[in-house]
Formats: sequence, C-alpha cells, structure tokens
Amino acid sequence: MKRKKIIVIGAGYAGIAFLKSLDEECFRLGDFTIINKNSYHYHSTMLHKVATAEKSGKIMFDLREFLHPEIKIIQQSVTDIDEKNHIVTTEFGTFNYDYLVVAAGFEKESFNLKGIENAMFIDSYIQSGRIAEVIKRKFDKAVESGAGLNIAVCGGGLTGIEFAASCANMLKNKCEFHRLSSDLAAKFNVHLISSTPRLLTFFSEKLSKKTADKLENLGVKIMHNTRISSLEKGRVNFNEGGLDADLIVWTAGVKGASIVSDSDVENERGRVKVDPKLHAPDSTDRFYIGDVSAVSDGKGGFYPPTAQIACEQGAYLAREFKAILTNSAFDEPFKFKSNGVICSIGHTYATAQILGFEMAGFLPSILKTMVEKKWNVKLLGLKGAFL
Ligand SMILES: Cc1cc2nc3c(=O)[nH]c(=O)nc-3n(C[C@H](O)[C@H](O)[C@H](O)COP(=O)(O)OP(=O)(O)OC[C@H]3O[C@@H](n4cnc5c(N)ncnc54)[C@H](O)[C@@H]3O)c2cc1C
Repeated sequence: MKRKKIIVIGAGYAGIAFLKSLDEECFRLGDFTIINKNSYHYHSTMLHKVATAEKSGKIMFDLREFLHPEIKIIQQSVTDIDEKNHIVTTEFGTFNYDYLVVAAGFEKESFNLKGIENAMFIDSYIQSGRIAEVIKRKFDKAVESGAGLNIAVCGGGLTGIEFAASCANMLKNKCEFHRLSSDLAAKFNVHLISSTPRLLTFFSEKLSKKTADKLENLGVKIMHNTRISSLEKGRVNFNEGGLDADLIVWTAGVKGASIVSDSDVENERGRVKVDPKLHAPDSTDRFYIGDVSAVSDGKGGFYPPTAQIACEQGAYLAREFKAILTNSAFDEPFKFKSNGVICSIGHTYATAQILGFEMAGFLPSILKTMVEKKWNVKLLGLKGAFL
C-alpha cells in the first residue's frame, strides 16, 4: 500500500505534541514532514523571559534534538496552502500531501491601531530577543544621560503581566548592579496599561487584587480602565491624555497565524472552527490544531487558545492518525477540560486558579515550573527535567 504523506505546519506546542505522541507503527505507515519557520521549537509561554533576558531553564530546542529520525524537517515559511490540489507552497518550493496538519500558532493582533509600527511584540523567539537587546541599549543610554527609562506595556493580560513583572525585576537588578542613586533609579519605570477595571477578569476580585498588589510591589505602575487610542514614536495616546515611553511593547492581543487568517478557509481572526475530530469544515484530510483552531466549549463559545489545549489537541490527533494509518475505526471526539491558569509574577510568585482552587505565592510558581519541565521531559526524556 502507498505510504501516506503527512505534512505538519508549525513546530509549536500543538505540532510537536502531535509528532511526539505518534508511535513507531505510524512512522512505518506514513511519511511525516514538518515545515517550520525556524530550525527550533521554543516554549512560547516563556517568551517574556527571553524579552527580558531573564535567567531560566532551557527555552529553545533544536528540532533534530528530539524529533523521531524518520520525520523530515523543512526550515521554511509556508506561503500558501492549495487545499484542492493538496499542495503546500513555501518560499523555496512545493510539497504534496495526503493529510495536512496546520499548527501555525499565534501572531500579534494590532486591531489596526494607528501608529502600531512604533511598538515591539512578544510573538516569537526572535522578536522577544530583539526586545531584550533594545532594553539593554536604552538602559545604558539612560544611565549615561541620567534621563531614566519608561517602558510601556500595552495590555493587561497574561503576557503583559508576566512581561511587566519580569521587566520590573530586571530594571531593579540592573539599577542595583550599576549602583544608581535612589533618585536616578526612581526614573526607571514599567507601566502596565489595561483597558479593564481589574487585571485577569477570569480570576476572582480577590485574586485579581493579589496579582495587582504583587506587581505594584515589584514597582510596576498599573493604569486600569485606560483605552489606548493610538501610538506615536515615544508616546502612547489614551482616549484622555497619554504617556511618554522610551519603549512600547504591545501585548494586547493575538490572532491565528497569517497563513490561516489571510487564506480562503473560513476563519475568524486566524482561527478555524474545527469539528469534534479537529477537521477543517467540509474536510477529512486537513486538521487545524493549537492557536489556529477554534474548539467549541459546548456552551455557545470557544475555548481560549492556550498551550494546554494545543498540547491536548496534538496528543489526541496522534491517536486519530494511528487509526487513519491502520484503517481502524475511531469514534472518539476531542474533549477538553482546562486544568486552570497560572500567572507568574517574577521568579518566585504566581497567582493561579487550578482545578477550581485559587492560590497565590510560591507554590503556584513551582507548579508552573513543573509544567514547563514536564514538557521538556516529553521532548527529551528524563534529562529534560534537569534543563
Ligand atoms: C509570554 C506568553 C505567556 C503565555 N503563557 C501561557 C500560559 O501560562 N499557559 C498557556 O496555556 N498558554 C500561555 N500562552 C499561550 C501559548 O503560548 C499559546 O497558546 C501556544 O504557544 C499555542 O501553541 P501553538 O502550537 O498553536 O503555536 P505556537 O507556539 O505559536 O507555534 C507555532 C509555530 O508555527 C510556526 N509558523 C507560523 N507560521 C508559519 C508559516 N507560515 N510557515 C512555517 N511555520 C510557521 C511558528 O514559527 C511557530 O514555531 C502564553 C503566550 C505568551 C506569548
């Protein structure tokens, strides 16, 4: 029987969870290829640490370091998907497929905001690394001139909070390292701009307050109920007033990758509404998983895109593929139950809602590290726990 050709687009949590959950029989029966912009996979949930050059565990992994040797790795950007003729086009060539798994993840969502080009984004390893470089350069200049540094973080969601906390810690450490006077150190500030009356509205008011208190404790200046109307070079404008900023980091939203949002496939902000077996509408050979998919929550809405659901979709799809490749029946629909959310605020503190329980302090920050290590173990085996 002819071997089936399976192409996976995207080496994020979803694409990698899929490939790492396949068994030997799948590799005997199918030819698997992954096409990814880079030759590596990274922890997207730790990008705020890359953006502040925070010391932490291993974040980036070479794809060859952990993928099955039978998987073909193509480091290219996909530019087009021809669903009718089963062809994926990249900048350098074309690839035929029998089955396609689209796992191209998230990109920044700018909501067509005027002046958005004046902001930087935490939406990839490279972009996040650039933020760290810019902060370092601007910090050195600010120390020399004595002018100080204002960093504006636009968006009070998980990414904005984790980055603002990490950034405030970094500035404090740098000020101490350079032995700045307290007057000069007071001129180095991180501002977190949020449109909502409180942070992380999916938390209870109490936990939300604990999150804000801890951030303020670290020196982050929070602006609630503040709608950003436009950006300029060095300034964030609000509906009323504004803030001068040496660096503007936009974390106020994400959408599915442009290879999906710009395609003809029915989607909303780059997310394709998939059926219970994760197929695209009217298709049995194209699957969308991770941040490019929208999975019904059974209550008229969709689950928010997270690493957690991306990993579970990948693992589920591997079981579905085993059935496809072995011609077996597979009636199990994809089901998801969120374990909760952990928001880290610095190295040793986090607020969390886990399995219905709310907690704050050191314990949830340890739990978050354990989740990261568990993923490392999935990639590299036991040694991953120590990286
Ligand atoms: C700072 C931060 C903190 C977060 N914290 C949490 C958290 O605590 N818990 C949680 O559950 N979620 C969290 N998230 C969200 C989580 O990271 C995403 O939901 C998750 O990464 C989605 O996984 P994915 O595999 O769909 O996509 P991604 O991780 O985005 O991976 C997609 C991959 O596809 C590649 N790609 C894209 N387009 C193309 C193309 N055209 N051609 C080739 N390759 C392409 C990309 O380069 C990338 O490698 C956080 C996100 C950020 C930024």
